[in-house]
Amino acid sequence: MQVAHIYAKLSYCKRRQVGCIIVKDNRIISIGYNGTPPGWDNVCEDETGMTFPYVYHAEANAISKLARSNESGDKASIFTTVAPCLECAKLMAQLGICEVYYTDLYRGGTERGEQALVFLKKCGIRVERLDTSFPSNPPDNDSLSIVMQAQDKPVKAHEH
Ligand SMILES: [Zn+2]
Repeated sequence: MQVAHIYAKLSYCKRRQVGCIIVKDNRIISIGYNGTPPGWDNVCEDETGMTFPYVYHAEANAISKLARSNESGDKASIFTTVAPCLECAKLMAQLGICEVYYTDLYRGGTERGEQALVFLKKCGIRVERLDTSFPSNPPDNDSLSIVMQAQDKPVKAHEH
């Protein structure tokens, strides 16, 4: 779940940064964060702070990326920082996702926000809220590079 929160920080959206990862057999097979289509300006909101309709949800981005890869989302798990909307939940069900973990409620747990969770459960998908969140205090953008560096660290050769 912490990894999903790290990816959320890459989002250029100001209103809400959402991150999502798709995991299968303990491997991350896709990632996504909310944002504009590739090649567009990284502006997600108009002057009034309203999110533009062409902004992709983090889950939709992760699912689309998966569709372009050779991986299958069948029996995979999704970790998303915010509970999915109904449209993303519908895609998850078709993808064969079996578990959805989230931290924050979508639309503050209103009926519209709950709709997707009810839908997922009805589709036989396990839904669970995890409180694990990534500390929101700085260092913001450094968090990801730290993770990347940690992964890229070369394996130390045996010393004789
Ligand atoms: Zn959505």
